[in-house]
Parts: sequence; structure tokens; C-alpha cells
Amino acid sequence: MVDCLAIAAHRDDLEITSGGLIAKLIDKGYAVAMLDLTAGEMGSKGDAETRNEEAVAAAKLLGVNVRDNLGLPDAHLQNDLASRALLAQKIRDYRPQLVILPHWEQRHPDHRVCSQLGFDACYFAGLKKAQLSGEPHRPRKIIYASYYRSYEISFAVDITAQFERKIEAVKCYRSQFNVDDAANKVFITGVDIFEYMRVRDRELGMRIRVGYAEGYIQKELVAIDDPLQVGGVSI
Ligand SMILES: [Zn+2]
Repeated sequence: MVDCLAIAAHRDDLEITSGGLIAKLIDKGYAVAMLDLTAGEMGSKGDAETRNEEAVAAAKLLGVNVRDNLGLPDAHLQNDLASRALLAQKIRDYRPQLVILPHWEQRHPDHRVCSQLGFDACYFAGLKKAQLSGEPHRPRKIIYASYYRSYEISFAVDITAQFERKIEAVKCYRSQFNVDDAANKVFITGVDIFEYMRVRDRELGMRIRVGYAEGYIQKELVAIDDPLQVGGVSI
């Protein structure tokens, strides 16, 4: 059982989009599990075994001791009944209160499907008559990591204290991001992933007046009991 289950399509997705928040939750004493839906066997670089070793090392660096893999087909993720049942079973097993998913608008089809599949599996896990083992469970809160595009962000989390750890965790993926290879660029513009993370998290950090931050989206309206306790400075 964990407090938070972070779900992404590929190993390394979670470190890039949510490494700061995951490390912060660990620092706060919460139990966090990272679940990758695929083993990355279709990736242009590295193989599934190498990426597994890298993923374990990255999770260890963030402080997460549970790193799970659903073994769904890389580059062919589908939001079908079989995949939903597999993921819903994990949600019942881990029983998280908080689930982190990728945003539903994505260029990579696996990321888009992961978002929808994750939401539907959270719902399915709560159905009493679902053909799953264990007690029904539905996470209370689902938040979506926004990273490669500028969405309307619901809230930002200060990850200043965790930012360098996040960078180190992404560096564990030597097969994907070779820091010494100047030609190895993730984006067409030639900006490497580390530069991108620094700029993006710094810009969000400035908006909430801290060093670095990660932005998240939630679909539901935020319920506030006491406006005097809400973070952020207006003037
Ligand atoms: Zn990915």
C-alpha cells in the first residue's frame, strides 16, 4: 500500500515530468510507488534490460523503493478492457490516495493513452463487481503532469530542494540521454532535456517565487476552506 502511485507510459517519463514532486513526497514521509506501463522495448535507444537497470537506479536516487512495470506493449498502448483490468488490479493492490498521470493531450500516442487508461483504471478499480481480486478502491485525487506544452496549470509545487536530485535521476538513463554527446538532442531545436527541465521548472518557480517548481493540472474545481491559508502572493 502507498500514499501516491505515479504512472507513466515509459521508463524515464516520470523522472522528467514529476521527479521533483515524487522526491518531495518521499521527503515528507509518504510512501510512493512508480509504475511504468511498458518496458521500453520499442525505443530507438537502449534495450528493455538496460532501461530496467536505469529505472531502478533512478527510483533509488529519488528515494522510491517500489518501481513496478505493467509489461504492456511499448508504442502500442491501448485503452482496452484487458489493459484496464491489469492496471486496475495494481490500483487495488497499491491503494493510493493520490495518482499522478500524464496530461491527456500529448504528441506521443502512448502518453495520451496512458492518461486515459489511467483515469479509466482508477474508476474500474472501484467497481464492486469488477473481475479483480482485493477490495474495491478508488484514489481520491488524480493530478496530471504537464510538461511538453503550456497548459492552463492548476497549481505549482515548489521543488527547489529536490531539483538537483531530479536532474540526477534523469541522468541515470545513460542509454537515452548521453550527457557527453552534444549531438544527442531530445528536441528539434537542439535543446537537450536537462536544459529544458532547468528552463521550464525555473520559469514555473519564478511564477510562485521559488527556485524551481513543477506544474500540475486537476480537472475538478479546487475546494478551499480557508482562503487565508492558500499559498501564493498576489502583489
Ligand atoms: Zn514517454
